[in-house]
Amino acid sequence: MSTTSATSATSTTGATATATSTTSQPELDLLIVGAGFAGLYMLHQARARGLNALVIEAADSVGGTWYHNRYPGARVDIQSMEYSFGFDDALQQDWCWTERYAAQPELLAYANHVADRFDLRSGILLNTRLTGAHWDEAAQSWQAGTGTGTSGGRTWRARHLVLATGPLSTPSEPDFPGLSDFKGQVLHTARWPKEPVDFSGQRVGVIGTGSSGVQTITTIAPQVGQLTVFQRTASYAVPAHNGPLDVALEAQVKADYPGFRERNRRMMGGFGSLLPPNNFSAFSVSAEQRESMFEGRWQIGGFVLLGTFNDLIVNPAANELAGEFVRNKIRAAVHDPATAAALCPSHPIGCKRLCVDTGYYATFNRPNVRLVDLQTAPIERFTATGLVAGGEEHPLDAIVLATGFDAMTGTLLRLDLRGRGGLALQDKWQAGPLNYLGLCVVGFPNLFNISGPGATAAFTNVIVAIEHQVQWIADTLRDLRDRGVASIEATPEAETAWVAHVNTVAGRTIYLNCNSWYLGANIPGKPRMFMPLFGFPAYVQKCAEVQQQGYPGFSLAPLHA
Ligand code: NAP
Repeated sequence: MSTTSATSATSTTGATATATSTTSQPELDLLIVGAGFAGLYMLHQARARGLNALVIEAADSVGGTWYHNRYPGARVDIQSMEYSFGFDDALQQDWCWTERYAAQPELLAYANHVADRFDLRSGILLNTRLTGAHWDEAAQSWQAGTGTGTSGGRTWRARHLVLATGPLSTPSEPDFPGLSDFKGQVLHTARWPKEPVDFSGQRVGVIGTGSSGVQTITTIAPQVGQLTVFQRTASYAVPAHNGPLDVALEAQVKADYPGFRERNRRMMGGFGSLLPPNNFSAFSVSAEQRESMFEGRWQIGGFVLLGTFNDLIVNPAANELAGEFVRNKIRAAVHDPATAAALCPSHPIGCKRLCVDTGYYATFNRPNVRLVDLQTAPIERFTATGLVAGGEEHPLDAIVLATGFDAMTGTLLRLDLRGRGGLALQDKWQAGPLNYLGLCVVGFPNLFNISGPGATAAFTNVIVAIEHQVQWIADTLRDLRDRGVASIEATPEAETAWVAHVNTVAGRTIYLNCNSWYLGANIPGKPRMFMPLFGFPAYVQKCAEVQQQGYPGFSLAPLHA
């Protein structure tokens, strides 16, 4: 190894990764960060192409989101038969889900099964948190490390860096005044302890009513003494009608699993081919027919409600009809009219991700459950024994923060990532997460981000989205190696056009009409930019074209002499 220079830089995060320039081959073709579904599959695909890859994972086991989000009631909101890998037919034939919507322990068991089945553990370093990575121009490779400040940690040199850190992996913990004074237990849904939490007889407060809050509230209500739900924005929840997996459906899907996967890949969200959306407007039928069609899909359960008509997410007037249908369901389910009114959302349905529930609204009929509407009674401060909202003190033994995530960018911006010329990602993304194809960032050669801004993961069955992006990255890296290309970097023009495209697509929908995490609106001070791309099939087609046409929108550089 011939070392030609060494530099070291400290970013705004304080983390340091020392970039040691060298003209020799780096020790790794790619370093993969994160051992959730994306990292596991990336390792498998890299190995299949003869690439030398290593995964580093901060946790003490694999599973990513399903490792950390073990709060009571955590389960997937896409049917188990769809929310699973399709790349290996023996895997999908052998694995048997027990429920229509799998719960967290089964999903975590599945991730572990995949790791064992494909011998992935040998390529994963656990308990290893990346703190920073610097691009070394002379060596055309990344120098990545686990050190902080001036302490050394471990470092690796890799030609490529693949960030499989997940779009929803950094919990949002709002800065509530006085929270540190609270003497009871404080839990966050996204960092739930491994040991079961016993809430028997306790006064528990849950802050947040998104998917995590809805599932937690419904599950713990029968266990706790008193449950107080602090709601800032009411959520739309549609019934899961969860239950044991229908064996007839399982047999039907397994009889042609590849065909089922292919049909799903043609759906806008990469799932849902069992009951595709109707291709006609909500206004093309009578009011009675409309109600009956909404009701039919409500009885089936899950996201299919939004496919009742083809204009629900593009036409606010049509959307309002679906929203009112759900509000009527809420009014019918909740006995106290004032509570029902507070539980009725006013934003467009689907603008924030729908919650898929099991008796959420009816939970508020329980005598031990109370709703506090933060719109009229905002949280003022925590005390040693509870919290004060709207001038009223709520005594609590435990508080559950179901306050979501610093989505899509939070994890990457907490790293010391430095690209060409020492450019910090914090500076590059000051006004929002610029990217090309949802995969790459100008100034950060050979860096690939999975399920990030500009990609479709947030609107797609994420495992389907992961499989597509991982295969694209793996094929690209093999192509580049075969063609003697040492570095690939998006061009500024392509990046600008891609961000405009993502926003143009969003602008045709109702997605810009509420304060969602898609827009970064849930995090104070976060730049407001619509991050995910809607429409999986068109995205797949675009990525394929880029590959087939020799990577337009990228500059490719051969190995330096
Ligand atoms: P979320 O959807 O962002 O919900 C967070 C909740 O906390 C919202 O009700 C939010 O209110 C509230 N909140 C945030 N900051 C607050 C503050 N300072 N004061 C009071 N309330 C505050 O987060 P999540 O429920 O964890 O879900 C995030 C995403 O993860 C979902 O959209 C979904 O994609 C995924 N997920 C899926 C499942 C599933 O069913 N498979 C389960 C959990 C999560 P506002 O709405 O007013 O911001």
